[in-house]
Amino acid sequence: MSTSKRIAILGFSLEANRNAPVSDKKSFEQTLYVHGETFASILDTDRATLPGTVRGFCATLDQSIDWQPVPIVLAEAPPGGPAEQAFFDQLLAQMKQGLEQAMHEPGGLDGVYISEHGAGLAMDLDDADGEVFSMVRGVVGAGVPVIATLDLHGHVTPRMNESTDVLVAYLTNPHVDQFERGTEAAKIMMEMHRGMQPHSVLIRVPMISPAVSLLTASGPYADLINLGQSRLGPDIVNVSILAGFAPADASTNAMSIVVTSRNNHASAQKLAYELATSAWADRKRYITSLTPLKAAVDKAASVASSPAKSAILLADVADNPGGGGRGNTVYLLKELIQRQVGGVVLGMMYDELLAAEAHQLGLGASFNARFNRDETTRFSEALSADAVVEALIDGTCIGRRGIYADRCVDLGPCALLRVAGIQIAVVSRRYQCADPVFLERLGIDLSQSRVLVIKSRGHFRAGFDEYFKPEQIVEVDAPGLTTPVIPNLNLTRVPRPIYPLDSQMCWAP
Ligand SMILES: [Zn+2]
Repeated sequence: MSTSKRIAILGFSLEANRNAPVSDKKSFEQTLYVHGETFASILDTDRATLPGTVRGFCATLDQSIDWQPVPIVLAEAPPGGPAEQAFFDQLLAQMKQGLEQAMHEPGGLDGVYISEHGAGLAMDLDDADGEVFSMVRGVVGAGVPVIATLDLHGHVTPRMNESTDVLVAYLTNPHVDQFERGTEAAKIMMEMHRGMQPHSVLIRVPMISPAVSLLTASGPYADLINLGQSRLGPDIVNVSILAGFAPADASTNAMSIVVTSRNNHASAQKLAYELATSAWADRKRYITSLTPLKAAVDKAASVASSPAKSAILLADVADNPGGGGRGNTVYLLKELIQRQVGGVVLGMMYDELLAAEAHQLGLGASFNARFNRDETTRFSEALSADAVVEALIDGTCIGRRGIYADRCVDLGPCALLRVAGIQIAVVSRRYQCADPVFLERLGIDLSQSRVLVIKSRGHFRAGFDEYFKPEQIVEVDAPGLTTPVIPNLNLTRVPRPIYPLDSQMCWAP
């Protein structure tokens, strides 16, 4: 009889922004939606299109044990609005059926690995991830290890924690440890096969934090994560601290602290309590201030006109496709045009119609570019400007640095337009500009760029750090779906009281 371990792989990944347009089946299909034979053959042959977590998980088991992946379903959409309910229901049913079938096959299942985001919403459901996790447990029963990896922007509900054995969240933001966390999940799975019994304790701290203050290189969140990591040892298997995603605007919103110990509930409880107390005591450090739009453009104008000054990067953090933003607002662009700031590169405007028009007109064409001609989303105002087509490419590329490193990305047909003194990269798929390769493929030499405007909240830092040091980065306060200014998000569904909306509230773990 074979001793090969059979481990199911599945996941639903969506960072849901309550106010962004619904994430329909197509948005999953265009990103990642694989099941059955297709999923099996990707696992066998070319895993480059899979998330780093899944690649890390599989690579580690490949090297360590005789095992057999049992592919169920992987679905991932770009950050956007809640999942269309019908699609989510279909996905859940598909996962359930796949797991049930696997359980009935000879050998059943020796484990389930879930690659999840953790800030998922469906149209009629706040705890979409809890729905997935409890379905999994319901099918496989209590004896089968269930381990999930989560993005640190996720939320952990009691249901998610109770339905799984171990939750492993990213430790880095920008997220450059996805592969490592998959590896960690695999190692914990093998340890469970050898008899380790994990105990997980969850404490939800009533805090929502501005996305820009959740970097892990330094700052309050870095300190908290480091404190947790310093306690790993024979007793503590994993410490996951998920800061959450404010624009989800859901009953699930909170900072989630999950500590997992080996065979000892009390030590997990003690450490979770200590970390929650520390997070709460530090809450004021998370409040941040951005640079007002006009002041940011003043800086850009001054850099553009004085070659002796260092180049700057204006981060349009409120229109981050990586947080459900549409990647097409024109507040900064309009101001730069009006002030006639030259030598600017803008990466990237998501506008499928405009990219298609540029491709149709051809290289060198002059035309009146109409941005957002068909957009109905709040904040995505229309803009017309005279433009010249400077470059045209298909948008397939392999990520070079940061969160997209080594991953295949398809931006769809792309065009580089020149409007006044500004070069604008126009793309057909909604991605945040987190990798220099997205602009380099259009012929842009970033080492020569004086003023770079990037539509991304923070992940760009791991891609563009070879050109821009932290002191050259200006986080701009413009309107948008992903503004880190919490009061401007108009949150209506988060549990109250919650910090900082209820700034005088008292709380203890
Ligand atoms: Zn994230």
